[in-house]
Amino acid sequence: MNLRRTKIVATLGPATQTHEQIEKMILAGMNVARLNFSHGNHHEHRQRAQTIRAMARKLQKHIAIMVDLQGPKIRIAQFINGQVTLQAGQPFVLSNTHPHNAGTAHIVGIDYPALVTDCQPGDELLLDDGRVVLEITGIEGQEVHTLVVTGGSLSNNKGINRKGGGLSAPSLTAKDEEDIKLAADIQADYIAVSFPRYGSDIEHARQLARQAGSHAWIVAKIERAEAVIDDQALDALITASDAVMVARGDLGVEVGDAELAGIQKKIILHARTLNKVVITATQMMESMITNPIPTRAEVSDVANAVLDYTDAVMLSAESASGNFPVEAVMAMSRICMGAEKHPTSNKSGHRLGQVFPRCDETIALSAMYAANHFPGVKAIVSLSESGHTPLIMSRIRSGIPIYCFTRHKETQNRVALFRGVYPVNFDSSHLDPAMLMQAALDELKKHQTLNSGDWIIVTNGDNNASQSGTNGMKLICVD
Ligand code: PGA
Ligand code: MN
Repeated sequence: MNLRRTKIVATLGPATQTHEQIEKMILAGMNVARLNFSHGNHHEHRQRAQTIRAMARKLQKHIAIMVDLQGPKIRIAQFINGQVTLQAGQPFVLSNTHPHNAGTAHIVGIDYPALVTDCQPGDELLLDDGRVVLEITGIEGQEVHTLVVTGGSLSNNKGINRKGGGLSAPSLTAKDEEDIKLAADIQADYIAVSFPRYGSDIEHARQLARQAGSHAWIVAKIERAEAVIDDQALDALITASDAVMVARGDLGVEVGDAELAGIQKKIILHARTLNKVVITATQMMESMITNPIPTRAEVSDVANAVLDYTDAVMLSAESASGNFPVEAVMAMSRICMGAEKHPTSNKSGHRLGQVFPRCDETIALSAMYAANHFPGVKAIVSLSESGHTPLIMSRIRSGIPIYCFTRHKETQNRVALFRGVYPVNFDSSHLDPAMLMQAALDELKKHQTLNSGDWIIVTNGDNNASQSGTNGMKLICVD
């Protein structure tokens, strides 16, 4: 049996909301379901979350739910007919006062009053991830007057960016604060913060989540030019987060597409080095919105992120509103597994020459050192409460599966995002310590074929109050 190490995050939307559709997505290989709070209402998100949980239970799979907050994304309002077509050279107005549902090919509402003060004539505004480009000719009262530089079709609620970044909106809006309460209510496993500038934005989100009773891990979407201006800014944002997303849609608009691939590689490397999880997102399989197979360029894009050791690759519109959501997951899955056969390195330089800060991390890294250097090792089992030990393990490059054995549902879901980590429901709290290793081995055999003479590595913690966390490691030969 060949396991896929790289995980798949799929955004759910109108194309993926019935029980049947979500069941197919899980069977095709979705590991994390993303609920995009830029679209849809609370009722819809709650229903989707319930359906995901129900189908995961039915299929006995562990699927994490990621709530993606809208953030201060500046968006146009809506058009009378849902969309318009803009011609290059024509004037077009963005208005704070125009009715929200009455946009035309000449004027449309916006929901960000500060746009009129943040921008100046000569600035370029990029709409819908840069598909439509407007040049500002003047600011008149509550209206931004522009000329269309690149035309095309423009539909409801598309995003607006300023080239070069620098829009002043704070990272968490009043809507986000309400949405965090819903995220707590539906027991989201991850909450993604849009457009964070500083670590303090992430800490604020975490604080609001904890107040609302959520244990979700907080994901920083790296999508502002300011976040990648230098290593210090980037590392500060990564350090404050539990996971990061290379949010290439907005990031690519703000920094320009030319440097995006280099910046992506840097974010992946820095996140892993700082012991954080990293998701590579946006337009990975864009053509599959309308085609059943990806282009060679898309195949290469997904494979490139996999070869750089991203934890996960993500689908947006492809799975939320495209014509081939299940095919897109299947294609991604196939490409990930193909790329994983050609690792760029089997050697890990991670943490070489460094001091390990914690006991559990020391065991985790020792286990990986052993696993990568002792040829008989076929699996690692981490008996874990929070998932921290498997997280540290999976920062090390390896082809050996890491099973996170845990009784906590939250941990089972959470680790579904980690590269090379597989959640298993396993309750060791009532087991006689003398029976523990055999019980773990018996459970592992339900998930992976093992032959006589194979070795496994098991890590665990003593269940007593003075010593919490992973402090032991054992090599076991299968007989
Ligand atoms: P979005 O974030 O899809 O919410 O805009 C991802 C990105 O910007 O790439
Ligand atoms: Mn974005």
